[in-house]
Amino acid sequence: MMGKGMGGMMKGCPGGNCGANSSNTWDIYPKMMNLKELTEDKKKEIVEAANLRIEEGRRLINKGVKELGASEQSLDYPKQENALEEIRQGVSQFDSGLAANKAIEQGKAPQNIALKWFKKEMNLLPLSFDAKNENSSMFGMSFFHTSIMTILILFMATMIWMYFFKMKRAALLLEELSKKTPANPAKPEEAINVETSKKEVLPSPKPVKPEKSLGNKFSGALELIGIFEEAPNVKTFRLANIDNTPLSFTYEPGQFVTFILDLNGKKVRRSYTISSSPTEKDFVEVTIKREDKGLVSRHFHDKLKVHDKLEVSVPNGKFYFNGEQSDSIVLISGGVGITPMMSAVRYLTAKCWPGEIYFLFCARTSNDFIYQKELEYLQSRYSNLNVLASMTRAKGTSWMGPQGRFTKELIDNFIPDIEKKRIHICGPVPMMDAVKSMLSDLGVSKEQIKTEAFGGAKPKETKKNPANEEKAYNLTFTGSNKTVSLGEEQTILEAADEAGIEIDNSCRSGTCGMCKVKLLSGKVTMEVDDSLEEDEKNKGIILACQAKASEDVSVEV
Ligand SMILES: Cc1cc2nc3c(=O)[nH]c(=O)nc-3n(C[C@H](O)[C@H](O)[C@H](O)COP(=O)(O)OP(=O)(O)OC[C@H]3O[C@@H](n4cnc5c(N)ncnc54)[C@H](O)[C@@H]3O)c2cc1C
Repeated sequence: MMGKGMGGMMKGCPGGNCGANSSNTWDIYPKMMNLKELTEDKKKEIVEAANLRIEEGRRLINKGVKELGASEQSLDYPKQENALEEIRQGVSQFDSGLAANKAIEQGKAPQNIALKWFKKEMNLLPLSFDAKNENSSMFGMSFFHTSIMTILILFMATMIWMYFFKMKRAALLLEELSKKTPANPAKPEEAINVETSKKEVLPSPKPVKPEKSLGNKFSGALELIGIFEEAPNVKTFRLANIDNTPLSFTYEPGQFVTFILDLNGKKVRRSYTISSSPTEKDFVEVTIKREDKGLVSRHFHDKLKVHDKLEVSVPNGKFYFNGEQSDSIVLISGGVGITPMMSAVRYLTAKCWPGEIYFLFCARTSNDFIYQKELEYLQSRYSNLNVLASMTRAKGTSWMGPQGRFTKELIDNFIPDIEKKRIHICGPVPMMDAVKSMLSDLGVSKEQIKTEAFGGAKPKETKKNPANEEKAYNLTFTGSNKTVSLGEEQTILEAADEAGIEIDNSCRSGTCGMCKVKLLSGKVTMEVDDSLEEDEKNKGIILACQAKASEDVSVEV
């Protein structure tokens, strides 16, 4: 096949005339391909044929040179082309004849000679090929090719090594992280690879809790990174991780953060609802109303500056709505009670929750309408958000909307089928009581209503000698080994305050759960026990701010 092919291809010598002996010279290579060994006779035959090629080559070169000279003056370009082709053919014949002679002299096998010759005719040999470097090249490749291949192979090997090295380091890092995690399982985001780029997220060492859970807890310091004026005496405080990383806790819209402050040498705790949305992963915001004589709210408004660090415990509370509890929601609030509602609205709209949202807000004047512009914007953007705001002291102001306190009719007109809806209420206690009563008239069952009181009740005057005015029982603090008198209208927290026994507390309204203590003997009643889990109740945990007794009791304090 090869011989046939060669014959066909080689018929293409210029003008079909490659000289008188051309058939001899062209035939020699197909013949050599069939020769197993080179006898003396064959050698002679090949040398003769090679010499003929050399001779023919020389003749063609001379002829071409002559013709080129002649055609140069007449500017006959086709002739010049023809002459050049003859020179090329001549050089080629001369070259291949020479190569055959050299190969015979070196004693090479006839097939190799033929193959080399054929390659030469077909221009298949590398440019730098010649007999001298034939032995020095590897796999028939030039030095240049060999070098490039070596560099590429080395580069590939380095990349593969780097990949495995990186994987090994990542595995070690993961192992280290998973060892550290139990102390604070709240840090799935820390799985972000600090070694390389921030965007490269490693598989989380522990399954990340879905957002519907009550959040990963965090206790520690956060940094105040921004303070924003919302309304007269109302400011928003933005807090972030000190090291500028995403928050290491999660929470539900409506949950709160408890601040632990050291004021005048005393540890004080206050709870503030997170007003920002859980979809914000880098910061949380609380919106605080400055109370004229309030210890902590005044500290926030008057003393704190950006970059101050604050000790917190977060998240707390069960008063939240994330869209999973019902397919529509009614949010009713007054004053600063708007904060849990705002977190829910921000969250539900950010998630494009499809349910209907009815947002009712009551304040004194439009100046006190916190987040007014944002709510207007959200309402214009999300058709399922329905906002109704009413101002109680709108007379003489520019407020054009509803005026006065909420009424049964206002609520009924605004919310279709209210008796079937889930309702959240937060605000001043008198406002909440009034709204609950209206809802009851409108056929809403108690189970559909969730409330949160912000507490902050003015300190009660404690009755110095309850025994004279009302029944009293013995209250024993086993940890302090002290027994005091407890009036039947007095709470355990009030009695502890009076006796100088410290019980952690914040809201004093049964909401925040800071004053949980263990009841060791006797029975108590609690008006509000929202912040207690069922299993805590079974274990005898009570809220000191709510617990009143009708017999002798002892607590583990
Ligand atoms: C779950 C929860 C969430 C909350 N969320 C928010 C929120 O988002 N935003 C917000 O602003 N608040 C919120 N609060 C209320 C907050 O925790 C505080 O109760 C509030 O800021 C008042 O704290 P304070 O230390 O400033 O006042 P305190 O010193 O505790 O005083 C309480 C009240 O008594 C008054 N008072 C104190 N001393 C006297 C006195 N000698 N004479 C007369 N009056 C006096 C104060 O003016 C104040 O109104 C929330 C409360 C709870 C329980």
